[in-house]
Amino acid sequence: MIKVAKFGGSSVADAGQFRKVRDIVRADPDRSYVVVSAAGKRFADDNKITDLLLLVNAHIAYHVDGTPLLKDIEERFSEIARELGVTYPIEEKFEEFSSVIRSLSPEYIVSRGEWFTARILAEYLGFPFLDAADVIVFHHDGTIDMERTKTRLKDAAARMGRFVLPGFYGATVDGTIKLFKRGGGDITGAIVARCLDATVYENWTDVSGFLSADPRVVDSPRTIHRITFDEMRELSYMGASVLQEEAIFPVREVGIPIQIKNTNLPEKRGTIIRETAEDNVREHLITGIAGRKNFMAVHIQKAHMSDKVGFLRRALSVFERYGVSIEHAPTGVDSFGVVVNGVDVRETIYAIVNELQQELKPDVINVVDQLALISVVGRNMNRRAGTSGRIFGALGEAGINIRMITQSSQEISIIMGVNNADFDRAINVIYHNFVESEMVEMPSRGDAQ
Ligand code: ASP
Repeated sequence: MIKVAKFGGSSVADAGQFRKVRDIVRADPDRSYVVVSAAGKRFADDNKITDLLLLVNAHIAYHVDGTPLLKDIEERFSEIARELGVTYPIEEKFEEFSSVIRSLSPEYIVSRGEWFTARILAEYLGFPFLDAADVIVFHHDGTIDMERTKTRLKDAAARMGRFVLPGFYGATVDGTIKLFKRGGGDITGAIVARCLDATVYENWTDVSGFLSADPRVVDSPRTIHRITFDEMRELSYMGASVLQEEAIFPVREVGIPIQIKNTNLPEKRGTIIRETAEDNVREHLITGIAGRKNFMAVHIQKAHMSDKVGFLRRALSVFERYGVSIEHAPTGVDSFGVVVNGVDVRETIYAIVNELQQELKPDVINVVDQLALISVVGRNMNRRAGTSGRIFGALGEAGINIRMITQSSQEISIIMGVNNADFDRAINVIYHNFVESEMVEMPSRGDAQ
């Protein structure tokens, strides 16, 4: 078995966290390839090293003395190294880095967060250090050169047997350091897992996996133990996120599962994300609920609209002209709605409605503001008739008005629009009726109607 274990910033925030990481790595000899983020927050008001380095860049850009800030960053690394008995000469190396800082690119400067963290971790684990600049190859347009990256990673793995690799950055073939998006250590981990044909990509973080609802809305929601990539996309899109979105694709394409685990509670099962879930097991009907507030819906009605070729396209092109992305477009026979993110149209909604009037000459046009969208996600819903009816029934009984409904074509999610004011209550009604309690025996795919 080959396991790629990626540890996020909170897993290496201080010496105590490093010790947990060592115990986890030692507990399983298959964990030979370790990817690490820069040290993160130790407590709520603390700063991530990456944020401090971004601040260093701002000091340089505005010609403000950044020496005290650099001292703070160095002190954090030195303290960890000292407490762990790591001998890597942090002070000397940091001094070298600081003395030439004005000649370095902003991306290079930020990448040192993961670089120093990985240096310390490598020595502490007794693993060789592998610099991401030597193996994670970027094209000049910022995309990954997967071919070259794979060759280099395979060579390194064969040569070293195991390694600690800093996440979040790589380099172009001419050696220029490039960064991924924020949270991009997850992407590095996924790329390493893919290139080394890992059995599993372990993502160690500070939560015990995906939760079935937002804990700020539902009290102690249960953890989702198994989820498919599609379900996770739906939930993340609606705001429930544990992983950097782009970290999914490299592993998904080659069928490697992702296991989310908690560094602080390693005995917890966490969440396993794979292409399909197993059949014939007792499963939850609904995997999770997520949602976001502050959408806006424009409703348009025109008699015999369904006979008019291009009517919908003309409506959508008005939104396109204003650069507004459309979230949903539920349609009826002679009416349809266009749901957009409220902030995207804050300044343009009147102009858009005006153009829609002129372009389409509708019988009725109105705007519904303060709309919240709730997505109920579950791969098992398509094998159980009547689920949506029961959800709507429960909401109706609670006196919650559903203002819009759409269902994804794979039938793994039902999206409902409710008033912002009903958002929390609607989620709780669905959670307590369907997610918390309901376990169903799933027939195997062959038996499905
Ligand atoms: N250190 C980077 C960030 O804070 C990348 C990561 O943590 O994965 O965004």
